[in-house]
Amino acid sequence: MPYAYDDQNIFAKILRGEIPNKTVLETEHSLAFHDVAPQAPVHVLVIPKGPYVCHDHFALAATDAEIVDFTRAVGEVCRLSGVQPGEDGDGFRSISNAGEHGVQEVPHFHLHILGGRPLGRMLA
Ligand code: IMP
Repeated sequence: MPYAYDDQNIFAKILRGEIPNKTVLETEHSLAFHDVAPQAPVHVLVIPKGPYVCHDHFALAATDAEIVDFTRAVGEVCRLSGVQPGEDGDGFRSISNAGEHGVQEVPHFHLHILGGRPLGRMLA
């Protein structure tokens, strides 16, 4: 059962309001909040509200409405955070860790949006 969702993970608790978060954006199907241990001046996590373990789970199992909502939320977070590439922002990196090899700490799908400084070349 590759996609067994643990509803006691910390982001599930955030979604239920059991743990506070610094919200950047909330939409019908998505929530974006500041990472508690930022690795860059901008470090925002974007998560779907649905119980998806990792990116591939979300991509395969989420509804079209959830996927569109999430994708638009990512764009809006980049705009709100001022990291859009171009003269007003200088770009960002989006990362999603999955499973053991991806060193995923929290088993609720999330996309890291990192920016606000040069991030260097990194693929692995
Ligand atoms: P992962 O390694 O890709 O799963 O990243 C999990 C991220 O969640 C890490 O960057 C943590 O700093 C972050 N994190 C863990 N707990 C919280 C929290 O309560 N609020 C916000 N971010 C958190």
